[in-house]
Amino acid sequence: MPLDVTNPDETPLHPIRGFETPDASLLGVVISHPHQDHYGLAYRLPGQTLFLIGKAAQSILAAADLFTAGGTTFENVLYLEDQKPITLGSFTIVPFLVDHSGYDAYAVLVEADGKRLFYSGDLRAHGRKGALFEKLVRQPPERVDVLLMEGTTIGRNDQVFPTEAALEERFVELFQETTGMPLVWCSGQNIDRLVTVMRACIKTGRQFIIDMYTAHVLRATGNERLPQAGWDHIKVFLPNAQRRQIIRRGEFDVANSYRPWRIFPEQLAQAAATSVMLFRPSMINDIEKASCLTGSRLIYSLWSGYLKDPKTRPFLEWLRRHGIPLSECHTSGHAALQDLVRLRHAFPNAPVVPIHTINADRFEELFGNVQRQNDGEWWTV
Ligand SMILES: [Zn+2]
Ligand SMILES: [Zn+2]
Repeated sequence: MPLDVTNPDETPLHPIRGFETPDASLLGVVISHPHQDHYGLAYRLPGQTLFLIGKAAQSILAAADLFTAGGTTFENVLYLEDQKPITLGSFTIVPFLVDHSGYDAYAVLVEADGKRLFYSGDLRAHGRKGALFEKLVRQPPERVDVLLMEGTTIGRNDQVFPTEAALEERFVELFQETTGMPLVWCSGQNIDRLVTVMRACIKTGRQFIIDMYTAHVLRATGNERLPQAGWDHIKVFLPNAQRRQIIRRGEFDVANSYRPWRIFPEQLAQAAATSVMLFRPSMINDIEKASCLTGSRLIYSLWSGYLKDPKTRPFLEWLRRHGIPLSECHTSGHAALQDLVRLRHAFPNAPVVPIHTINADRFEELFGNVQRQNDGEWWTV
């Protein structure tokens, strides 16, 4: 789903047989990772469509479906697993786990009729799984005939992306400089970032207060090494909007399962100086009522472009009214140019097809041997 779509119910689907109505020629649909631009229209496909997606990615989307309008559930699924080939008809698909801000993200190698195509998915080198990128450029799949490579960050002014590890140090500094409660606004599905914040909490002796939706996403990963409700120093807060959603969906068992680790609004003021709280603007009323904002600071941990969005203005106004300073602390979920160049050079014989970019016209000068292809047009390799 293109990110600028405002009405997904009416957006035309790609002209693929099997998308509007069932068609036996459609063997399956690969969802590389659980970001909306990669699965957002999947709910419109016929119910029996086979989806190939990571197991944790599927669980995260189901968890998100419970709490937000943005999730989704799939009925017929084959799981993508790192370097485990899947055969579908004439096609063999080999997933490669990659470093990305979305969890359980894959690049895929597709082989059919003796030809091999490598699709980068969304990826980067500077996250907590950067070693996966290094391994990919060191030992890329051989005999690749076409490289479909993302170029999200091409054309952006800032091309210096701190690592998640560097970000951790910055969070530590910001937490130390804050007398009250640091409020961290980041995506509840950016698992790398949640780990970064958790580690900075441990280093500064603060507990980490996460909202129930985020706790549920973390549980959905099935990965016990990630921060989880039940860990020391993690508390679960239920904002009103999420409480209403649980009531609407009748999912009381979910809420009850977090009961031992809950923190309630009346406890926030006292906990402020020794806690860090995950936050988003939908929680303004919750924390305003809790009177926990003395000495607070908002740490903005999303793409800075959203700050200029007129929709963010009322929130910035709210911060000003309360005298809450804003500090930015973020790094991109996508590879910097220098890393894309390294990825491209790992496939020296393959023409590169620009995808996932608004600057496809710059690929030739940056990467060489480019084949521009339009959406919806078939070509022969
Ligand atoms: Zn993504
Ligand atoms: Zn994407």
